[in-house]
Amino acid sequence: MSVTTRATTRVAAYAAPAPGVPLERTTVPRRPVGPHDVLIDIKYAGICHSDIHQVRDGWGEGIYPMVPGHEIAGVVAEVGAEVTRFAVGDRVGVGCMVDSCRVCEHCRSGQEQHCVQGMTGTYNAVGRDGEPTYGGYSTHLVVDENYTVRIPEGLALDVAAPLLCAGITLYSPLRHWKAGPGKKVAVVGLGGLGHMGVKMAHALGAEVTVLSQTLRKEADGRRLGATHFHATGDESTFEKLAGTFDLILSTVSAPLALDAYLGLLKVDGALVNVGAPEEPVSLNLFSVIGGRKTLAGSMIGGIAETQEMLDFCAEHGLGSEIELIDADHINEAYARVLSSDVRYRFVIDTSTI
Ligand code: NAP
Ligand code: ZN
Ligand code: ZN
Repeated sequence: MSVTTRATTRVAAYAAPAPGVPLERTTVPRRPVGPHDVLIDIKYAGICHSDIHQVRDGWGEGIYPMVPGHEIAGVVAEVGAEVTRFAVGDRVGVGCMVDSCRVCEHCRSGQEQHCVQGMTGTYNAVGRDGEPTYGGYSTHLVVDENYTVRIPEGLALDVAAPLLCAGITLYSPLRHWKAGPGKKVAVVGLGGLGHMGVKMAHALGAEVTVLSQTLRKEADGRRLGATHFHATGDESTFEKLAGTFDLILSTVSAPLALDAYLGLLKVDGALVNVGAPEEPVSLNLFSVIGGRKTLAGSMIGGIAETQEMLDFCAEHGLGSEIELIDADHINEAYARVLSSDVRYRFVIDTSTI
């Protein structure tokens, strides 16, 4: 497909035409390449569980047609006149945001995801130009260079794509809560996010435990870097592990039994939730009063931290474990993610769109 820079161009994409219906092949507009924009020839797009929540209107009313995809890896095909950070041929990635206000305290401190005016999502959002944004299940993307990161040479593009959301979403809280030598870290849910959490926590030097619904994924968990692996479907797990962890990261996409997991923390431990279930959860506040425990959340990470995470992953050889699929298998992949049958991230070969 030829993409011009001077006019809005239509590019091939896979979209949900309406909430809760299968995704299908379509075309969507991409804006002309502005002075600060890069045109990315998308090579791979990861499937995040957030894509599935959103195409079902699980988090509220969405914008349709919806082209999901915020784990984007590709190659720069063209740069705007004033672009300084990238050149044609560079290997680049785009994650969950494509813009923010750039002037608030959080944008200026590299926490663009917490922009006071709200970050602009890569899809299912309205851009600052008033047009809907369309994500990475597509052949091309036009994006501001300031919301684009560099994929280091040591990482293949297909296994790098999931790092743009799953990777940074676990890296940021692991760093913020200082996972490292001497720390006992548990990762709840061994899916797209969880498996990167295990790899990165292990690389940071922490002692890692996986808490999974069953023991089906135990061999994988240990291979990825976990020293311990327990089934949460077994009630005795919660008695055996009471008071064990400094840090628990929950990646579970469904409502979590918070009180039970808070019971697994040491005094002053933290349970950081990154899973984004569609339903509210309940909490008995005595679960945090006793033991001065912290219950926190975390959302992706800023642009500079995303670059730092990619460099860390390249240095430690940490790509995602992927199943590469054709675009025609997206709906099937969604069904498998929903049944916790992903090992451990589906990635779309966008040349098949
Ligand atoms: P995923 O690949 O489906 O992994 C989630 C894992 O949670 C599953 O593999 C499963 O692991 C476990 N799980 C699923 N249903 C469960 C249930 N009913 N009870 C207990 N455990 C269950 O999803 P993902 O892409 O990693 O995303 C996980 C969640 O994080 C989603 O809600 C997503 O929207 C959210 N998310 C948040 C951020 C953020 O910035 N905070 C960023 C990206 C995604 P086991 O088989 O091991 O039990
Ligand atoms: Zn995501
Ligand atoms: Zn801002």
